[in-house]
Amino acid sequence: MIRTKLAVLLVFLLVATGGFANSLAPLKGISILLDPGHGGTDPGAVGPTGLKESAVNLRVARYLRDLLKADGAEVTMTRDKDVFISLADRVAMATKRNPDLFVSIHHNASLKPVMNNRSEIYFNAIDRGISQKVGNSMMTELAKWGFGEESIIVPAGFFVLRNNPAPSVLTEGGYITIPKIEQELQTGKALTNQAQALRRAIRETFKDGILRVKFIISEEPVKIDTPFFNLIFSANRAIEQVNVRMVPDRKSGFGFDTLPSIGNTYRLYNTEALASGMYELQLTFSGSDGSTSARTLLRLQVDLPVAHSALVPVAPFIPEGFKGRFPVRVTLRDDMKRLNTRSLPFRLIYGANSATSGVVSEQGETTLFLDLNGDEKEAVNVQLEIEGKVISATEIAVRVPERRFVLGRIIDLNGNGIRGVKISYGADEKVISGPDGFFYISYPKIYGNMKLDIAPPLGYDKSEYWIRTSGEPVVLPAISLKPVSARLLGTRIAIMAPLSFDNLIRRLVKPLMGAGAEIVRLNYPENQTRPEYQSVLEANLAKDLDMLLSFKREIGGAIAVRHYHRGGRGKLLAEALKFSLSTENPPIVVKTGAGSDYEIGHTGVTSVVIAFPEQMPPDYPEKLVAHLAQVLKTGF
Ligand SMILES: [Zn+2]
Repeated sequence: MIRTKLAVLLVFLLVATGGFANSLAPLKGISILLDPGHGGTDPGAVGPTGLKESAVNLRVARYLRDLLKADGAEVTMTRDKDVFISLADRVAMATKRNPDLFVSIHHNASLKPVMNNRSEIYFNAIDRGISQKVGNSMMTELAKWGFGEESIIVPAGFFVLRNNPAPSVLTEGGYITIPKIEQELQTGKALTNQAQALRRAIRETFKDGILRVKFIISEEPVKIDTPFFNLIFSANRAIEQVNVRMVPDRKSGFGFDTLPSIGNTYRLYNTEALASGMYELQLTFSGSDGSTSARTLLRLQVDLPVAHSALVPVAPFIPEGFKGRFPVRVTLRDDMKRLNTRSLPFRLIYGANSATSGVVSEQGETTLFLDLNGDEKEAVNVQLEIEGKVISATEIAVRVPERRFVLGRIIDLNGNGIRGVKISYGADEKVISGPDGFFYISYPKIYGNMKLDIAPPLGYDKSEYWIRTSGEPVVLPAISLKPVSARLLGTRIAIMAPLSFDNLIRRLVKPLMGAGAEIVRLNYPENQTRPEYQSVLEANLAKDLDMLLSFKREIGGAIAVRHYHRGGRGKLLAEALKFSLSTENPPIVVKTGAGSDYEIGHTGVTSVVIAFPEQMPPDYPEKLVAHLAQVLKTGF
């Protein structure tokens, strides 16, 4: 999980120019993309008498579109009929049109039979500019228009918000599952009132017009080879404040100043040195007239030149007569002692007149090879030339080994070296594989055939390897480790469950981690209302998640395993688990099917909900997680 903090610097400027909205067309020049949630095969929430959320969403969106158009806005919709559109396609439309505002319109569902109605507003958690501003306004307006008094506003990471380039909000205009509300939503009044409330909120947000900012750059990412940047930008209004957030998180300060004598043109800069790497600047601007800008994202690639280098052979000497490839580890660091991030052409010059050349990829550590033919004597001089300059040199001795000499490498199934593998041999001796998986062993010649015990990192099976040798130096063929589960190795799985499930979840986490999966635990207190909001936000902010598993308790007869209504991998997993449990004696019966659980539809990753009934044999949960781990390991 990646968390970032806001680094804020306020710089005040003098100028203020008025932006007066046209009272007849208050939203002139503003573009808005409305997104009626669900549709087609995906009805969304369904009311007690069958009213579909997808239909209500569309009606509200149509009313709102007409109202906003009357205000002069340029309005488009992600759908204007009852069709299914994936979350990714909705975001793609936002990316293509790049509107000033994206509003996703939804209505809520609750499993609670009795509750008070309320509206809920979710704004893009990574945009505290227009997204939050319009969200606040919407909450106020919806309350005024009678959409519940306990309405809430929440920063959220739903798929359509998190991946949206535009300021974006998602509205839940009420609980369609409450009979009285369902009835109201069937009539036009509640729908037009909601559209009116949303319109007023949007008007309020843009009453000072919109602040548009443009960076003057020739390419993106912006490439710099110094630790400091200077970015020039211009705006259509005077700017009073810039909020800067940098990912990965930087504590360094940022500042901006005005370029005199050019109207509304500024320079953004940093005051603390940056190391080599890729950064993302997330910027929002405030005008001195009260206007707010959309979020600007700017990628910055810092490539500091190589300032330090090291050339170290994997084995301390070359055994005399050695024929073949002899590995040399190269480490490149910049002035700030950070590993190199640039791709660089190199030449490795060694011996009398041998050389290898190529490109060091964007890694600070690389293994290069000397191609030796066996007639090297005493020592080999090695020089590393980067961009035409010798930056490192070393001498590697050539001698007859007094002890056995073994050069090996540990790799994965794709042939990539695995670092940090502990290899034990002889009488309690150990070595650890280095970058690219290489290792070197030296041991007395008195040992006969020798066993290597390989203690693998998480996700790989333990293995052993026999070296048979008469005492000559050997270069082992690469030793390939077998993953416990090729399916699970390197996958990221979030597990959401109430705290009381802790023991059960541990039983699941252990085998999954043993198989090399990375687990993100999302625990919540038993009595937390709507814990899925926070968990889904965290799940969405956790990058590169492959799957979300949600455990809960509910009223009902059988264990339920629910997936996204479109099926996909979630459905395959649910069905595989169901089958696996049916092989128990006696069989454990589970009910599988599409669910409308919040966490299923709002993460954009394969999500499966496992709900236990209050009454069931006490060993069922344990058995279920054992089967689940097995199904996840072997594939589904
Ligand atoms: Zn919905």
